[in-house]
Amino acid sequence: MSKFDFFPSLPLRDIVIFPSMIVPLFVGRNKSIKALNEVMKTNKKIILVTQKNAEVDDPSSEDLYTFGCESKVLQLLKLPDGTIKVLVEGIERVRILECKEDKDKEYLTIATEIVKDKIDSKEDLLAFSIAIVRKLEKLTNLSKKISFDLMTDLKDKKDPSRIADHIAAQLNISIFEKQKLLETIDLKSRLEKLMDLINNEINVIGVERKIRGRVKNQMEKTQREYYLNEQMKAIQNELGEIEDGENEISHLHKAILKAKMSKEATKKCLSELKKLKSMSSMSAEATVVRNYLDWMIGLPWNSKKIDNANLKINDAKKILDEDHYGLEKVKERILEYLAVQKRVGKIKGAILCLVGPPGVGKTSLGKSIARATGRKFVRMSLGGIRDEAEIRGHRRTYIGSLPGKIIQQMKKAGTKNPLFLLDEIDKVGTDYRGDPSSALLEALDPEQNVNFNDHYLEVDYDLSDVMFVTTANTLSILPSLLDRLEVIRIPGYTEEEKINIASNYLIPKQIKENGLKDQEWNLDKDVLKDIIQSYTKEAGVRNLEREISKLARKTVKNILTNEAKPEINSKNLSDYLGVKKFKYGEIEPDNKIGVATGLAWTEFGGEILKIESAMMPGKGKMQITGKLGDVMQESVKAAKSYVRSKSLEFGIIPPIFEKKDFHVHVPEGATPKDGPSAGIAMVTAIVSSITGIPVDKNIAMTGEVTLRGHVLIIGGLKEKLLAAHRARIPKIIIPEDNKKDLAEIPKNILNDIEIITVKTVDEVLKIALVKELKPVEWIDVESLSKSKSGEKIAPGSAH
Ligand code: ADP
Repeated sequence: MSKFDFFPSLPLRDIVIFPSMIVPLFVGRNKSIKALNEVMKTNKKIILVTQKNAEVDDPSSEDLYTFGCESKVLQLLKLPDGTIKVLVEGIERVRILECKEDKDKEYLTIATEIVKDKIDSKEDLLAFSIAIVRKLEKLTNLSKKISFDLMTDLKDKKDPSRIADHIAAQLNISIFEKQKLLETIDLKSRLEKLMDLINNEINVIGVERKIRGRVKNQMEKTQREYYLNEQMKAIQNELGEIEDGENEISHLHKAILKAKMSKEATKKCLSELKKLKSMSSMSAEATVVRNYLDWMIGLPWNSKKIDNANLKINDAKKILDEDHYGLEKVKERILEYLAVQKRVGKIKGAILCLVGPPGVGKTSLGKSIARATGRKFVRMSLGGIRDEAEIRGHRRTYIGSLPGKIIQQMKKAGTKNPLFLLDEIDKVGTDYRGDPSSALLEALDPEQNVNFNDHYLEVDYDLSDVMFVTTANTLSILPSLLDRLEVIRIPGYTEEEKINIASNYLIPKQIKENGLKDQEWNLDKDVLKDIIQSYTKEAGVRNLEREISKLARKTVKNILTNEAKPEINSKNLSDYLGVKKFKYGEIEPDNKIGVATGLAWTEFGGEILKIESAMMPGKGKMQITGKLGDVMQESVKAAKSYVRSKSLEFGIIPPIFEKKDFHVHVPEGATPKDGPSAGIAMVTAIVSSITGIPVDKNIAMTGEVTLRGHVLIIGGLKEKLLAAHRARIPKIIIPEDNKKDLAEIPKNILNDIEIITVKTVDEVLKIALVKELKPVEWIDVESLSKSKSGEKIAPGSAH
C-alpha cells in the first residue's frame, strides 16, 4: 500500500487551472466521466492536471505535467449526448507525487502535495502586483481582450498570490507558458514573468497599430489627392478652363469624325475613345490615349487635290528660272517629270535625287519645285539616322513614344500632298537598331506607300499623294535605295556661273533680306570675282552668299549711322571681309622634285591634291601618311610596284629599292582622302623623287593606274576640272576613256584649260616630267661578283 492518499484526476487538454479560479469544463472522455461520477459521490475533490500534448486521448502519468490544481466540483450537468458539463473551482496548487491507474476504477488517481507560494516580503509584492494590474489595465485599453469586470475584480484583491494567478489565467498566452507560471512557486519571479509577458503584449499591439496607422495614412493621402484633384477640376470647370470629361469625349468624337480618316483609322480612334471613357481622366494611360487621338486627329487625312491637269509646264519653267540660274539640264529633267505627272495624274516611277556638293542649290531647287507645283514644302534630314524607329516611330508601349519623322512632318505640312524633301539620303546608315532604309523604301515606293505603316499610328497612312524629292552629296547611297532614285547631278559652278548667280540672285535676295532698297546697293563683277577667289573655296555658292550678306549688313549699318555709303571695290574689300582666306591659284612657284598635282573628288566637290614623295637612306621601307583611305594606300603600293617593275626603262637602278626608304605624303592630313584616281600622280611623284627630275608645276592629273601601266577611267571629271580651273592650272592630264565626258564641261573651262588625254603611264611621265627619262642598262654585278670572287661593288646612282 502507498503512504499517500490518492484522488481521482481529470486530465485537461487545453487549459491550465489556477487556484481560486472558477471554470466550466466539458468532459467527454469515458475515464474522466467515471472519475467525476466517483468524486460526486464523495467530497467532490478532484485533481486537475494539464496534458503535455493535447492530442493524446488516453494520457498516462508521463503525459501529464507535474503540477496541477486541487479543485472542487461545484456543479455537474449531464448533457443529452452523454457528455458532462462541470463547474470547477481551483483550490490549491499541488505537485504530483504519484499516479496510479486502478484496474477496477478505470481512471487515473493521483497523490499530491500542496505547494504554497514562496513569499519574501508581502508588502513589496503587493505593490508589485498592483503595478502589474495597472499595466494590465493599459493592455486592456489597447486590446479589449480582458473584460472590464475582471479588472474591477483584480483591483479589489489584496493578495498578491491571488492577483498573480488570476492574471495568469486570463492572459492570452500559450498553454506551455501558463503551465510555467503555475509551476513558478517563487511569487516574486512569477510576478516578474507576468510583467514581462504583459509588456511584450503591449509592444506587439503597439507595432501592429503603427503599421495599421501607416497603411491608413497612405490610403487617406491618395484619397485626399483624388478629392483635391476633383475639386480643382470643378473649379477650373467653373472658370471655363477645361471641359469636363463628358465634354472632352464628345469633342474628341466630333473631331474624329471631322478628320475624314480612313475607315480603319476611324474605327481604331473610336475604339480608343471608348477606352478613354472608362479611364480616370488623370491616369497616365488616359494621357497616352489622348496623345494618340491628338496625333490622329492632327494628321492630314484628306486635303485639297493638287490640280495636276491644270499645271502649266511653262509657268513651272518660269518659276524654276526665276529661282535658279543655269542648271539647264536639271530644270529640263524636272519639267519632264512634271509634264508626265500632268498627263498620268499620279506620281509613279522613280523619285528625283539631286546629287552634288553643298551649296549648289539642291534644297532651294526642291523649294522651287514645290512652288512650281503649288505644293507645301517640308524637309527632313536623314543624316545620321540609324534607327528604324526614327522613320517609323515607336510603338505606343514606350513611355513618351511618338510617330516617326515622316508622319511628324506630314502633320507639320498639314496637307496630304506636300513636296517632301529628304536631305542627305547618302548618310542613312544601318546598325543593330534596325535598318532605316527598309522603312524609307516603303515610304518612297509608290507601290507600297499607299499603306505606309507607322508603329505609333498602328493603322496605315497613305503617302501616295506626297511628292518625294531626295538630295545627296555623293552617290554612295545604299543600293536598295539608289535603285528607286533617278539621279540628277549638280556638279558645282564655274567662276563665271558664280558671278552670274551672285549678281542675278544672291545680291537681290540679300538686298531684300537686309532691308535695302533696289538700286541702293550693288557689287561690281570684279569685286564678286575677288570674293569668289580670295574668300571662298567651294563648288557651290553658300559661302559666297554668306560673304555677300556680310557686305549687305555693313552697308545697312553705314547708311543708318549716316556714314558715307561704302564704295566697295577690290582694294578695300579686305576692310569689310577681313584678311583674304585663300591664296588664289595653287600652282607652285617653280617645278619641284617629288611633288605632283592630283585631282580628287570629295563630297564638297572637286579638290586639288598635292602628292609628295621623298626618298632617304634606309632599307627599302615604304611609309604612307596624310590620312589616306584603304584604296588610296593600295594605290600608292601599286604605283611603287609599277615604278619598280619599269625601273630600268625609267633610268633607275634596282638596288635603290633596297637601300632607300620611301615616303609618300598627301598634305592637309586632317581631311580623309580615298579613291584610286590619284594613281598616275603618285607614280609621277615617286619617279620624280627617285630620278631627281622635277615635275611640271603647270600640270595636274587624274587617272587610276594598273600594274601594267594602263591609265583607267575616273569619275567626277566635271568637279575635278572645276577645281583645277579654280586653282588656275592650265594643263590637265585625264584618261583617254574620259574623253566622252568633256561634252558636259562648260566651254569657258575648255577654253582656259588644255586637256591632254592619255592611255599609259609612260605618256603621263613624258608630259609631266620636265626632262625625259633615259633608260639604263644594268647587270646584277653584285650577285655576279659574289658568285665569282665574293667581292662587293657599290651600286651606282641613276643620276
Ligand atoms: P544645297 O542644298 O545644295 O546644299 P542650297 O539649296 O542650300 O544648297 O543653296 C544655297 C544657296 O545658294 C541658296 O540660297 C540658293 O538659293 C543659292 N543657289 C544655289 N544655286 C543657285 C542657282 N543656280 N541660282 C541661284 N541661286 C542658287
